[in-house]
Amino acid sequence: MEKGRAGLDPQNWDELRALGHRMLDDAFDYLEHARDRPVWQKMPEELRAELARPLPQAPENPDRAYEDFRRLVLPYATGNTHPRFMGWVHGGGTPIGMLAEMLAGALNANLGGRDHAPIEVERQVIRWAAEMLGLPRESSGILVTGTSIANLIGLLVARAATLGAASRRIGMGGTRLTAYASAAAHSCIPQALDIAGIGSGQLRLIPCDERGRLDISALEAAIAEDRETGNQPFFVVGTAGTVDIGAVDDLAGLSALCKREGLWFHVDGAFGAMLALSKKLRPLIAGIEEADSVAFDFHKWAQVPYDAGCILVRDAVRHRAAFAQSAAYLRRDSRGLAGGHPWPCDFGPDLSRGFRALKVWLTIKVFGAERLGAVVETSCALAAQLAARIAAEPELELLAPVALNIVCFRYAGSRADAGWDLDALNTAIVADLQESGIAAPSTTVIGGRLAIRAALVNHRTEEGDIAALIESVLRIGRARSMEAA
Ligand SMILES: *Cc1c(COP(=O)(O)O)cnc(C)c1O
Repeated sequence: MEKGRAGLDPQNWDELRALGHRMLDDAFDYLEHARDRPVWQKMPEELRAELARPLPQAPENPDRAYEDFRRLVLPYATGNTHPRFMGWVHGGGTPIGMLAEMLAGALNANLGGRDHAPIEVERQVIRWAAEMLGLPRESSGILVTGTSIANLIGLLVARAATLGAASRRIGMGGTRLTAYASAAAHSCIPQALDIAGIGSGQLRLIPCDERGRLDISALEAAIAEDRETGNQPFFVVGTAGTVDIGAVDDLAGLSALCKREGLWFHVDGAFGAMLALSKKLRPLIAGIEEADSVAFDFHKWAQVPYDAGCILVRDAVRHRAAFAQSAAYLRRDSRGLAGGHPWPCDFGPDLSRGFRALKVWLTIKVFGAERLGAVVETSCALAAQLAARIAAEPELELLAPVALNIVCFRYAGSRADAGWDLDALNTAIVADLQESGIAAPSTTVIGGRLAIRAALVNHRTEEGDIAALIESVLRIGRARSMEAA
C-alpha cells in the first residue's frame, strides 16, 4: 500500500472536485430539461445485464464509474421528475432538494441521538409540521422513510398506550385488539397490523359512502359488535386523501366518535395532509388537528426528494413510552456530546438515522408554506380541468368523483362499440402511453372497472400536459379500437 493511502479521501482533491462540478452541472441540466425527455423508457436488457456483474475487487477511476451512472442509470429512472408523470402518487423533487441531499452527504450526520445541530433541524421540522396541521407545539415526531412506516409507528404507540408499557415485555397476552379503517384505506394499514402482531384479520374495513368516505354509522355499529363479541377496539384510522380517488374521510366526525368511545384516532394523510398548506383547501381536512397521531409524506405533494415521511404524535410521553430503551452504550449525559435527551431513537425503531430533515428544512425555508400550498392548489385545479375535459368528451367516461388531485376515467369509445373488453383496452392504452414516453398515468379498479388513473402531484405539470394526456388517450383509444374492429 502507498504510504499514507489507507484512507478513502482522494489523492488528488482537484481532480475529484472537477468531477464533482461536472456532476452538479449535469444534475442541474437533468432537472432544467426534465420536460424534454421521454417520461419513462424501459432499461434495455443488455444494460441490465451489466448491473449483474460480480463484486469489484480493484478500484475504478471515479470518472469511469460516473460514466456508468450516466449510461446505465440516468436515462432509465422512474420518470417522476417529468411533468407528465401522473402515475401512483409521486412527488417531482426540486433542485433545492437535490442540493440539500448533497450537503447532508457532506455532513454524514447520524440523527439517532446525541447533541448536535442536525437534530435541532429535525426538531424544528417536526414543530413546523405540528404548526402546519394544528397539533400542539409539544407534539413529538420523527422523520422516517415514508407513510407506511409512519402508520406502523402510530399503531405501535397506540398499542403500547392501550395495553400499557409492560406489554412491550410480556406481549399482548390474549387481548384481541381491533382496528378500523375505511375500505379505501391504503394497503400498508393491514400490513401494519400484521407486522405489529395484532393480525390484519383484526382490521375492520368499513364501507364508504358514494364519495369514497368512511361511513361513520357503519363504524359505530362495527365497534359495538366487536365489544359484544369480546374484541377490544382501540385504533381508528381516518384517511385524508385515499390513494384511489383522493377522498377525505370526515375527520372531525371520526375524532368526536373516538373521544366518545375512548379510541386512538390516527390519520393517514400521506398526501392529503399537505392540504393544510393552502388556506383555501385547509377546511377539507378539518379535524386533523384533533388526531392522536398523523402520518404523512413530504416526498409526495411537498416535493421533497425521496424519501421523507413523518409521524407526529400529540402526546410525546406516550410516544416515547412505546420505543425508549436503556442500553448502557446509549447512556445519556447532562454534558458533552451524549446530552440532548430525548433522542430521536426514543421515538421509533431506527437507531442510526440519516439527515433527511435537511432537505425538508431547506424546501420549507426556500418556498415557504405559501408557495408549497400554491402547488397543492394548482394540482387540484388541473384535476378539475381534466375532469371537465373528460365530461365534455363523449368517448371518455369519468369513473369516480374528483375531490382533490386524482382523476379516474376510461376510454369507452362511442356507444356503437359496446361489447368491447374495455378493461383490456384501457390497460393497453396506459401501457402504450408509458412505453411511448408521452405520459405516465397508472391504473386502478373502480367498481369492478379498470380505470386510467391520473394523480396530479408534480409541481411541473401544466395545462398543456392535461391536454396532451387527453389527446393521447383519444388517439391511442381510437387506433386500438379500429384494430380490434
Ligand atoms: C402513498 C400512501 C401511503 C404509503 O406511503 P409511502 O410513503 O409510500 O410509504 C399510505 N397511505 C396513503 C393514503 C398513500 O397515498
